[in-house]
Amino acid sequence: MLRSCLVVKLTPHFSFFTQCPRPLTCWKFRYGSSCLCNYSSFINMKSIMNKKCSYGFLVDQTSHLSTLSQTATSLTECSEGISSKLSKEARRKAKRKAKRKAEQESPEGILKRKLNECSKGGDMVEALKLYDEARSNGVALDVHHYNVLLYLCSSHASAKIDNNGDENTLNSGLKRGFEIFEQILVDEVSPNEATFTSAARLAAARNDPEMAFELLKRMKSCGIAPKLRSYEPALFGFCKRGDTDKAYEVDADMIASGVMAEEPELSALLKLSVDAKKEDKVYEMLHRLRATVRQVSESTLQIIESWFNSEDAAKVGEKYWDVSMVRKGIVQGGGGWHGQGWLGSGQWKVAKTHVNDTGMCLSCSEKLVSIDIDPKETENFATSLIRLACQREAKANFNHFQKWLQQHGPFDAVVDGANVSLTNTQHFSFLQLNSVVQQLQQLSPSKRLPLVILNISRVNGGPAQKQNNKRLLEYWKKNGALYATPHGSNDDWYWLYAAVSCKSLLVTNDEMRDHLFQLLGSSFFPRWKEKHQVRLSTSNCLIMPPPYSTVIQESANGSWHVPTVSDDDDYETPRQWLCATRSPNMASLRQLFTSTSTSMAA
Ligand SMILES: [Zn+2]
Repeated sequence: MLRSCLVVKLTPHFSFFTQCPRPLTCWKFRYGSSCLCNYSSFINMKSIMNKKCSYGFLVDQTSHLSTLSQTATSLTECSEGISSKLSKEARRKAKRKAKRKAEQESPEGILKRKLNECSKGGDMVEALKLYDEARSNGVALDVHHYNVLLYLCSSHASAKIDNNGDENTLNSGLKRGFEIFEQILVDEVSPNEATFTSAARLAAARNDPEMAFELLKRMKSCGIAPKLRSYEPALFGFCKRGDTDKAYEVDADMIASGVMAEEPELSALLKLSVDAKKEDKVYEMLHRLRATVRQVSESTLQIIESWFNSEDAAKVGEKYWDVSMVRKGIVQGGGGWHGQGWLGSGQWKVAKTHVNDTGMCLSCSEKLVSIDIDPKETENFATSLIRLACQREAKANFNHFQKWLQQHGPFDAVVDGANVSLTNTQHFSFLQLNSVVQQLQQLSPSKRLPLVILNISRVNGGPAQKQNNKRLLEYWKKNGALYATPHGSNDDWYWLYAAVSCKSLLVTNDEMRDHLFQLLGSSFFPRWKEKHQVRLSTSNCLIMPPPYSTVIQESANGSWHVPTVSDDDDYETPRQWLCATRSPNMASLRQLFTSTSTSMAA
């Protein structure tokens, strides 16, 4: 396969590149040895310093009977030693500073700064001018210089695809880009991931996805791990061309390299499969979107809609199917899908619709399911939360909270006190907080108070000083329902950990999107949030988690329900769903009925 594509598209640039393995090995050797050298000299220096220090202590420890003057002498020696060590350190610092300054003021350093400015402003013309000048003045360019140049050239060349910019600049981006890429090899500068990715973008801009894919393989063979962006030029190039075999090959390579496709890649593969009438691949892509993306954007929804409305979709599907296998698939998959292939026959009925509060589709009346979270996943998530919290919060404080929670928990609900007291109001309101606490207590099967997390400053100062609020806080404290987080701590770690470890509801209007929550990843956390977060409406009523999962669902009868992404802040506007169903096949219905009766009788 590889050979054949080489034969098809063996460009002069390409062959030059693939036949030049030398610079990489040279660079690796150079880099490796210099690294080792620096590190070993660092180790040696450290051990010498340690020896000197321990020697000083040994003298002190073994000369208990030495006179005061001897001690004084050794102290002087010691302080002299310290001051000489300090001055050595200062000299080293000054030397490093001078070296850095010299680097910055060198022709290479100046070029680097100017190229970075071009990169920020997207000025390829100026960058190429600087490059030509540098070359004629014999300035030695490194991988960073080259990467900036390649990035600018590939960006300009790619803009051609989107019909932006003038033709001359675009063509010159392409031409000069390849020229610079070849120079990298001549100069024996070793490329890195960014170099390969920019080069692959240049190849894609020249409608040469074969070359883009070859560059990717080349990068892998050099031991450089590809990123998702490294795959995009080849994948999108083949998808655009409608070359299914090659696009699926890139996709398989991506999976083998452990690179997870996201919505743009899956959407491109889905469109390719729809256009090529590859129903099995359409099915596979829908399932991959379900498992990784969950809710789709408007553009992906249009592709899905066009599939279900197509004549090809009407032709696919089993007229009769094994109901028990479908059931088994649902149980094994954790619910919400079966993976047994297209079910049913004939034209699909496609509708853009909504789902009501109970999870019923307003178009076909199918009840959407709630997909459980694996308890083991929750446990792992709690463990990683502790690790992250202990890294970022004072460990002793967080450990104290964990112990407190063990003694007083578990709770049915946890309240982000500060957020709830400030939702829909300008001033911190204990009245509002108490109303939420009371609502939650009523909802609790054991009528237990929820856990309120508040910073100590909120518990001691401001409105907390008022008599009524003081009494309220005292009551919560007495009943083990209030935890005051210490000064300088971030409450978020505390309420999130409490809710995760108690497997309880969490009341907050915080959408949990900032840096802290991004640390938690996009695989488990959004699913957890969907099932546990309770929000406060504008009229201060509790909005409970939906009784169904907002994820692409495949029903036992072969219907599909696809939710679109919505603005998280706008949780009071109903989300749009695409419903695709087929009129039930009488034979299958009979089969389903028989099977249900049997299982009921059993
Ligand atoms: Zn429906």
